[in-house]
Amino acid sequence: MTVRVRDCTPQDFNMIQQWLNVVAARLAGANGMPPIPGPLPGKIHNIIHNPQLNFTVHCGQHDKRCSGLRGYQLGKKVVMCNMDGPALLAHELVHAADGRELDAEVVEVLLFSKQEGAIRANAGDVKIFREQSGGRYFYKCPNGHIHESSTQRFVMNLSDFLAPGTRW
Ligand SMILES: [Zn+2]
Ligand SMILES: [Zn+2]
Repeated sequence: MTVRVRDCTPQDFNMIQQWLNVVAARLAGANGMPPIPGPLPGKIHNIIHNPQLNFTVHCGQHDKRCSGLRGYQLGKKVVMCNMDGPALLAHELVHAADGRELDAEVVEVLLFSKQEGAIRANAGDVKIFREQSGGRYFYKCPNGHIHESSTQRFVMNLSDFLAPGTRW
């Protein structure tokens, strides 16, 4: 790991280091899952491993911007407002790689479990997907699937992506 981790207790520092390893492994296709197609895994791998990019990950316990947020990304800084698990870290790293809300949510829900902090997309998220006209790395096809944009490969069913009762 080369991305720098700041403002964390020793325990949270160690946790973030573990989660960075988990995120990198999942993106590369761990747990028998196929790797995510397209350029996104490489971009996030670079953010985690290339020190020249100067990315930092922060613990946000004392960050006033964190009010009401699970986490956020600003420039080359990812802030974990809550230690919600590797799913949240992956979500914010997707934003760091220029991903929109759809991109961040797809990676979160596709690669991580509820226990790891993954939360399926709800009505508020869908509103943002619409406002942003979909993702940069993923899109919704007319048959109700999520596809990867550059390869057009199927990634997941919309029914597995949205929280129960959520419509898009
Ligand atoms: Zn987001
Ligand atoms: Zn499709």
